[in-house]
Amino acid sequence: HAAAAMYHSKHSGGDNFSFYSPELSVVWTRDRLVFEKELRIALADDQLQVFYQPIMNARQQCVLHIEALVRWLHPVRGFLTPGDFVPFAEQIGVIEQLGKQVLLTACLAAHNLSQSLGRPISISVNVNPRQLLFGGFAQVVSQALQQTGLPASSLTLEITEDAIVNNIPLAREVLGKIKKLGVVIALDDFGTGYSSLSLLRDLPIDTLKIDKSFIRALGQNSHDFMITQAIIGLGENLNLEIIAEGVETKRQMQILLDHHCDLQQGYYFSRPVSYTTLLKWMHSPTYGRL
Ligand code: C2E
Ligand code: MG
Ligand code: MG
Ligand code: MG
Repeated sequence: HAAAAMYHSKHSGGDNFSFYSPELSVVWTRDRLVFEKELRIALADDQLQVFYQPIMNARQQCVLHIEALVRWLHPVRGFLTPGDFVPFAEQIGVIEQLGKQVLLTACLAAHNLSQSLGRPISISVNVNPRQLLFGGFAQVVSQALQQTGLPASSLTLEITEDAIVNNIPLAREVLGKIKKLGVVIALDDFGTGYSSLSLLRDLPIDTLKIDKSFIRALGQNSHDFMITQAIIGLGENLNLEIIAEGVETKRQMQILLDHHCDLQQGYYFSRPVSYTTLLKWMHSPTYGRL
């Protein structure tokens, strides 16, 4: 049941269901089976959607890059975010399929957006640990690029430290293959995992994303502030690109700019939105707030 608690929905639209039911494990099991069936149907019928959140150059107030974030508009349970179903997809063994669909959709969106705007827009796609270390992932990536026509250098794959610490030799092999394609590798949620700085030495990492838990307390909590500063310094010294995630206020944006962290992402600029909304927003003469 500990694992079941993970599926408890915390987010919009999903607050009214939970699989966690210690007394009624029969009901729980039935719920799980229903949810599993629904997820399999959703995958087969393309019910999953990909939302996009701009990653800003906050100094120039322009968008160069977007992150793809999966959503599931569930007919009954409402709008589900990844925390509601990605761990479950992993458990029932459909994460590779889910990941492949998101990757294809996202690459196509970046390609179309670039054409529509007449300038290159690159895209980040989150990769689940299982997906990364499952055989043949580099092949899946190369096929997605071929099928969509997106240049490899316009794709970033976001991985987490936890995904690689347990299997560094295999991670190095897979990441090496992906790098050879010309794809960019980012470490997501940097600073929160069981990270070792030797990962940065041993693996072909290009970008660090400072976890939003450090950004939240910028300007209030001096420890988080120092950690953020240290990560920015690490980036400068090791020549890594740094992106701050979870920027929600003008003050946070400004503090980051003062410390030369120009690449920023967060609700202050825009929430994750549908492709259509993003397209409209990026075509507007000055980016408004969404
Ligand atoms: P992540 O990659 O670190 O994505 C950032 C999360 O922070 C997203 O949550 C985003 O909506 C949220 N966020 C963005 N700006 C702000 C802000 O200013 N304040 C706050 N409080 N939150 C902000 P989301 O979409 O619920 O995704 C959660 C996680 O699920 C992602 O974390 C990523 O690890 C995973 N995920 C998302 N899409 C996919 C996917 O297609 N495949 C896989 N395997 N994992 C995914
Ligand atoms: Mg969520
Ligand atoms: Mg991410
Ligand atoms: Mg993150």
